[in-house]
Amino acid sequence: MYIGIDVGGTNLKAGLVDETGAITAVERCPLNFQGPEQFTETLASLAVSVSRKGGVSPESPAYVGIGLPGAVSGGDVLFTTNIPMKNVPLERLFRRRLDLPVFLGNDADCAAVGEYFCGAGRGTRDFAVVTLGTGIGCGLLLGGKLHGGQSSSEAGHLVICHGGEPCNCGRRGCWERYASATALIQQAQAAMQSHPESLLHDYAAENGGTVEGRTVFSAAQARDETALAVCRKYVEYLADGTVSLINILRPEVIAIGGGVAAAPEQLLLEPLREIVARESFARHGGMTTRILRAELGNDAGMIGAALLGRAI
Ligand SMILES: [Zn+2]
Repeated sequence: MYIGIDVGGTNLKAGLVDETGAITAVERCPLNFQGPEQFTETLASLAVSVSRKGGVSPESPAYVGIGLPGAVSGGDVLFTTNIPMKNVPLERLFRRRLDLPVFLGNDADCAAVGEYFCGAGRGTRDFAVVTLGTGIGCGLLLGGKLHGGQSSSEAGHLVICHGGEPCNCGRRGCWERYASATALIQQAQAAMQSHPESLLHDYAAENGGTVEGRTVFSAAQARDETALAVCRKYVEYLADGTVSLINILRPEVIAIGGGVAAAPEQLLLEPLREIVARESFARHGGMTTRILRAELGNDAGMIGAALLGRAI
């Protein structure tokens, strides 16, 4: 048994997970961050309550894996992106409350570990997950181990457009400025404003003027030209980074995750596969990379955190 805790922007989710990756109990609580001590207290009490809920004693799981949005090193959190933590010795603080070994991981890496053992990456050696969200998260397992150990891959910051849109990493033209869920919404808003006659515009108006990923995909499914054009361009941006990843790493599978990945196949994954087949070097022969949809949804991070010990 392992405990996996997924630290999200607003909530914490802990799962008791067995050797096969099956979840036997889940506990959730709000994040409500008030400093590292209180945060660790919350993590430890969550670990205790999920163990009890799963019918095991809190000392019996082999370890606790914790996935965080940020960078980690050994048992320390170097920084987190939406929680004010910097250089926090999280494992040391945690073990004062509950004496179990602790593995820390970046959240995109945890999602990749979860998919590798229990989802779209099962049976592969080299595997990547690309998560389309506020930014682009990328987790990479090579030969069954997380690439770089605990140093997460930052493929979202591959530059695909020289001198392009400014990114908060300090560069311009990063992949995530064009192919994240946030970027898709910005592209859809711009298209909607220049095409007030479009169905995309109508759908957004029905939604209180707000565009979401699914607004674009439903308008595109209704054959709205404006929405279809947004989808086509978005897939091209998505393909730019995907083909580069494939050319560098040649993984057996790249799994696409995040809310946008729920789009109908013919609008997202099918055209993406066509561009990859046309543009990647594998067209000259050799191993080809399969592009699949991630399978575990919101549980990927929690299951991956629980199985971190196998992948580091
Ligand atoms: Zn960047």
